[in-house]
Amino acid sequence: MSAQSNSRVADVVVIGGGIIGAACAYYLSKEGLKVYLLERGFPCSGASGACEGLILLWDKAPGPELELGKASARLWRQLAEELDLDIEYDRGGSILVAEDETGLKATKEKLQELERAGVQGLALDALELLELEPSLARDMAGGVLFPNDAHLEPRRATLALLQAAKRMGLALRTSAPLMGIVLSRQGRVEAVQTAETRLATHVLVNAAGAWSPEIGKMVGISIPVLPRKGHIIVMEKAPLFIQRPLLEAGYTASLANDSLDLSVAMVVKGTRSGTILLGSSRQFAGFDKTVDLGVINAIALRAIRFFPKLIDLKAIRTYAGLRPYSPDHLPIIGPVPGIEGFYLATGHEGAGICLAPITGQLIAQWVTGKPMDLPPESFHPGRFIQRACQSLSLNTENTPHSGHPLNP
Ligand SMILES: Cc1cc2nc3c(=O)[nH]c(=O)nc-3n(C[C@H](O)[C@H](O)[C@H](O)COP(=O)(O)OP(=O)(O)OC[C@H]3O[C@@H](n4cnc5c(N)ncnc54)[C@H](O)[C@@H]3O)c2cc1C
Repeated sequence: MSAQSNSRVADVVVIGGGIIGAACAYYLSKEGLKVYLLERGFPCSGASGACEGLILLWDKAPGPELELGKASARLWRQLAEELDLDIEYDRGGSILVAEDETGLKATKEKLQELERAGVQGLALDALELLELEPSLARDMAGGVLFPNDAHLEPRRATLALLQAAKRMGLALRTSAPLMGIVLSRQGRVEAVQTAETRLATHVLVNAAGAWSPEIGKMVGISIPVLPRKGHIIVMEKAPLFIQRPLLEAGYTASLANDSLDLSVAMVVKGTRSGTILLGSSRQFAGFDKTVDLGVINAIALRAIRFFPKLIDLKAIRTYAGLRPYSPDHLPIIGPVPGIEGFYLATGHEGAGICLAPITGQLIAQWVTGKPMDLPPESFHPGRFIQRACQSLSLNTENTPHSGHPLNP
């Protein structure tokens, strides 16, 4: 059967069944749009199935990034109530742990900066820290409790968003890689092509995470997202070992470090089932997802430095995922200049779980033309991609279509 004879019509096609694609599909479906989501493997087969699920504010820089985080954290609170599937949402806070006095000073300065930006935190001395987390090493200098941080189970959250969107009409296609994009001569999205079908649409949302540049290449644009590998160790069940997620004071430095070298910072998180997740590593290693035992060793040693009792527990699983790294550490959300109907929702690096709901909401607002929840400029693809159609050599001078993608 030819592709043409299989033709279907969608208001919006979303590419990628990770947390970002799922959130886009959810908020677009809520607007009453007919949404198709194409996932080349299965939901959560990318980074969203290989991460910790922390919803943190203190790791975001005050300004646009923090405001994005606050808006998204609010939406997660609503979603935890609204979604049918239990996403194991827990708003028990997180702790930033300082190993020494220098780290503690830096942590307290960070707290002051965050408080000015409206984020609540509580400085802890060494004894207060141990009272809250008795499994920590006895020689920690102190830390800061951020009582409003949360965490959830990212795979359940992705599935819950997809399930809810399906009830609103989402057509979810798994094992369905996007093969091509059809543009009009004026550079407007006309259709997408999979191995089996051609879907006519005027709106395409590229939420393919670390692979989003491949989708960009299909229309001749260069999306500056790189895969940034991260490993996780799953430890056997040890209920009550930790009370809430803990991260070391050097975590934000590891996040901001753009060097090619491996960086490791302690992240420890308990799960509802009683297992403990240990992270976190960052490295640029291409698209290789194989587990590197040297990195696992470095993560384990760092975690044991903070939690000596971990040495008595067994590791039961290890895995690695590819974060979609954006060069300026801000996600890329919005329309691509010069290709009408082509939107990006990518580049969330280590914060895609936290930032998923607001990303989906902003994409829905861009697509429908409704007022935006936040000023979108800081996240706009235009900061990296100028007029895409020039590079495509398409004639955009006399484009008749200048209206909204859904209201041409
Ligand atoms: C170790 C680790 C720990 C992390 N911890 C946290 C955390 O605690 N909190 C947090 O907020 N974030 C965390 N992150 C980051 C978070 O996982 C990512 O930012 C987020 O998952 C990105 O989601 P995504 O949907 O953009 O990408 P992905 O989940 O990678 O999804 C992209 C999807 O696109 C699909 N795809 C690719 N190409 C095509 C194609 N041609 N056609 C169809 N489908 C395609 C892929 O199969 C994939 O399923 C962590 C990441 C790692 C690796």
